[in-house]
Amino acid sequence: MSPSIAKLIDGFATFRATYFNADNDLFQRLVEGGQAPKVLVVACSDSRADPAILTGAEPGELFVIRNVANLIPPYGGGGTYHGTRAALEFSVCGLEVEHIVLLGHSRCGGIRSLTDAAAGPNGKFMRSWMGMVSDVCCAEPAADNDDSSARAMEKAALLTSLANLEEFPWVAERVRAGALSLHAWYFDLEQGALLGWEPGQERFVPLAG
Ligand SMILES: [Zn+2]
Repeated sequence: MSPSIAKLIDGFATFRATYFNADNDLFQRLVEGGQAPKVLVVACSDSRADPAILTGAEPGELFVIRNVANLIPPYGGGGTYHGTRAALEFSVCGLEVEHIVLLGHSRCGGIRSLTDAAAGPNGKFMRSWMGMVSDVCCAEPAADNDDSSARAMEKAALLTSLANLEEFPWVAERVRAGALSLHAWYFDLEQGALLGWEPGQERFVPLAG
């Protein structure tokens, strides 16, 4: 067996020993009561930015959507297969999460593909998906920081997704009613830091690290 796959199966054995033993009834409760996560995280597919690992979340705590560059498409966009929109609808209208965290990160290959064709595969689906935020190529770093253009683009894309999220009527309705809060976070891979968008200050501020 491939060592990569064997490692995953070993990992499951550890997981099982932790969560399926006589002292731990977490899964029993999650099966009998169903899932009731309070938080939806929208994260990048990047292997370095796993929201459950980054936050130390337990099973049942996070509902997670992952896609290339953690994007939220516009509410009114076309197309037929709406993976991200469907999961958003399921978690907001069905599970009634209380928070949505958009989790961006530095060194994002999806964002880099907008300006660097050599950054990785950039076929028709990638071009179509990333076209949603193609205007972030013009993003300039804020005056009070020394972000590279890539980091400025990653943060601008995060804010575009936040703006798109606010356009979903059932999101806007719940935010107005105080039942739902929206957050935009940025994981800095190089510094091991977590930043959060502070609307009052119009900038990202350190949350931890
Ligand atoms: Zn990414």
